[in-house]
Order: sequence, then structure tokens, then C-alpha cells
Amino acid sequence: MAGNRTLTMIKPDAVKAGNIGNILQMMNSAGFKIVAMKYTKLSKEKAGEFYAVHKERPFYGELVDFMSSGPIVAAILEKDNAVEDFRTLIGATNPADAAEGTIRAKYATSIGENAVHGSDSDENAQIESSFHFAGTEVFA
Ligand code: ADP
Repeated sequence: MAGNRTLTMIKPDAVKAGNIGNILQMMNSAGFKIVAMKYTKLSKEKAGEFYAVHKERPFYGELVDFMSSGPIVAAILEKDNAVEDFRTLIGATNPADAAEGTIRAKYATSIGENAVHGSDSDENAQIESSFHFAGTEVFA
């Protein structure tokens, strides 16, 4: 059965561009409930840890530099079928391929600086939620 939680980050590009409010509004309008949220900044080390699965990819260094370049908003979102529905809401990794009306189509500027993160599986949603939040910071 599909899980009902996913982990998102509003990335440094979208924070810098003043789009936190617009993006949270899109998440709420699509039926996602915020059960945990923080405004924070990843160190290079923590960004590297979060994206460790991409360590061998050519863009890893660029990704770590970008994700630690400024503050982000991390949040746990709740909705039926959360992971899949949220991936639909954010759109393809490359904004050039993202469907019209998706968060990345509206707010991403490039394949690297693409405004938002969304977990890609229930298992990763769990791991990524624990990366950012203690159990005492989650309010269902
Ligand atoms: P998604 O975030 O859509 O799940 P991936 O897991 O493939 O995408 O990649 C993680 C993140 O790495 C992307 O969101 C993006 O910020 C960055 N990234 C992916 N592919 C590239 C690329 N070709 N060049 C630069 N950055 C990339």
C-alpha cells in the first residue's frame, strides 16, 4: 500500500527568488497537509550526505554546492499516495520537460536549480524525513 507522507525541500534558488509562499500555496491547494516544517541551511557535509546516492554522478559537486548555498525550507507533507502525487505536482527534474502548471514548470530555472525536492519512494520519504526532523517535531 502506498504511504501517506513525503519529504520536500524548497531549494535555495526558490527561497532566494521569494517563492516560498507561492510554492507552499501550491502544495496546500493540491491537498498536501504540512505535518513538519523548518527554515534551515544545509552545510556542505549535510548536503553531501542527503544526496549521497548521487555521489558518482558528474553533477554531484555542483549539486552539493548549490544545496548548501543558502537557506531552504524542509517539510513533511501528508496526503493519500503522497510520494507519487507530489512527484506529479512538482514535475520533471528538468523544467524544460516539466508539465504545465507543475511547481518546476513555474519556478525552476534549470535541471540543477529546480526549485523543489520530492522523495522518490516511501522508503526514501521515511529516511529523508528522519534526516531533517526528530519525532518530536512532527505534528499530525
Ligand atoms: P529529482 O530531484 O527529480 O528526483 P534526481 O534524483 O535525478 O532528480 O536528481 C537530484 C537532483 O540533482 C535534481 O533535483 C537536481 O537538482 C540535480 N540534478 C539532476 N540531474 C542533474 C544534471 N544533469 N545536472 C545538474 N544537476 C542535476
